[in-house]
Amino acid sequence: PYDVLVVGGGPAGVAAAIYAARKGIRTGLLAERFGGQVMDTVGIENLISVPYTEGPKLAANLEQHLADYDVDIITGQKAAGLARDGKLQLALESGATLSSRAVVLATGARWRQLGVPGEDDYRNKGVAYCPHCDGPLFKGKDVAVIGGGNSGIEAAIDLAGIVRNVTVLEFADTLRADDVLVRKANSMPNITIITSAQTTEVHGDGSKVIALDYIDRNSGESKVIELAGVFVQIGLVPNTEWLQGSQVERNRAGEIIADTRGATSMEGVFAAGDVTDVPYKQIIISMGGGAAASLGAFDYLIRSAEE
Ligand code: FAD
Repeated sequence: PYDVLVVGGGPAGVAAAIYAARKGIRTGLLAERFGGQVMDTVGIENLISVPYTEGPKLAANLEQHLADYDVDIITGQKAAGLARDGKLQLALESGATLSSRAVVLATGARWRQLGVPGEDDYRNKGVAYCPHCDGPLFKGKDVAVIGGGNSGIEAAIDLAGIVRNVTVLEFADTLRADDVLVRKANSMPNITIITSAQTTEVHGDGSKVIALDYIDRNSGESKVIELAGVFVQIGLVPNTEWLQGSQVERNRAGEIIADTRGATSMEGVFAAGDVTDVPYKQIIISMGGGAAASLGAFDYLIRSAEE
C-alpha cells in the first residue's frame, strides 16, 4: 500500500510524485502514457526558466527528475475506478487493485478533434489547439479558429493581436460565446466570423497547412480559405469518464472540482492539472497544481490516523 498514489504521468502527476517522495512517504505513480499531452507537443516556449524545449525532451526531463526519487512507477496501465474500503482502492483495467492512504488524480485532458481529413497529418504543422502556446508561431499570417464558443472567440481575440487575419468558423447558425466577447471580436478589424460553416478538410503542401475547406450550410456551397494555421477550439475533454460512479464530484464539463489545496469532495483524494476545474490549462500551471495537491495530501496524511 502507498501513502500517496498519483494517477497520471504528465506535468501535474510528475510534480505531485516528486513532492510526495520528498516527504519520505511511500509514493506510487500510475500512468497510461508517461509524459501526457506533452508527448504530442513540438515547441514549448512558455515553461518559465526554460526558454525553449520540445515535448519529447520535456517528457524525458520529467522522467529523469522523477528517477532521482524513490517512486514506484507503473506505466501502460489504465485506472478504471476509485472507491474506499478502509484505504482508497484504485481499480485498474487489468483487474488489479492498488491501495493507498491518499490519491492524487492527474489524468489530464484531451482536445476534441475535428475529425476531418488533414487534421492528423498537419497537427503541429499548422493545426494547433492552444493559442497561448502556438499563437506567436503565426505572427503576421492568416489563421482560422474553428469553434464559436467562449474558447474560440477568446482565441480569435488573442490571435488577432499577433496574426494578420483571423477567420472564425462556427458550425451552428449562432455563436455560443458570451455577448461581451462577441462584441469585442466584432469590433476588431482583422476578425471575420462565419456561422453555419462546416469545416470539411485541412490542406497542406506536404510539410505545412496552406488552406481549409468548409461548406456554407445555408447555400451548400463549398469554399476555400488560404491560411497558415487552424486553431481547433471545440472543447477540451477531461479524462474523468473512469470516475463515473465514484464520490469525486465533477462539474458540468466533467472536470474534477478541486480547491486551492487540490482537495476534492472525496476524503483523501486530491486532484491537479488539466483534469480539474482550474481555469487555465498549461504545463506550468499543471506542475504548480501537482505540487499543491501533493502538499495538500501530505497535510491530510499527517492529520489522519494510519489504518
Ligand atoms: P496530461 O498532460 O494530459 O497528462 C495526463 C496523464 O494521465 C497522462 O500520463 C495519461 O496517460 C494519464 N492518464 C489519463 N487517463 C488515465 C487513466 N485512466 N489511467 C491512468 N493514466 C491515465 N502547455 C503549455 O504550457 N505550453 C505549450 O506549449 C503547450 N503546447 C501544447 C500543445 C499541444 C498539441 C497540446 C495537446 C497541449 C499543449 N499544452 C501546452 C498543454 C499542456 O500539454 C497541458 O496543460 C499539460 O500537459 C497538462 O498536464 P497534466 O499533467 O494535467 O495532464
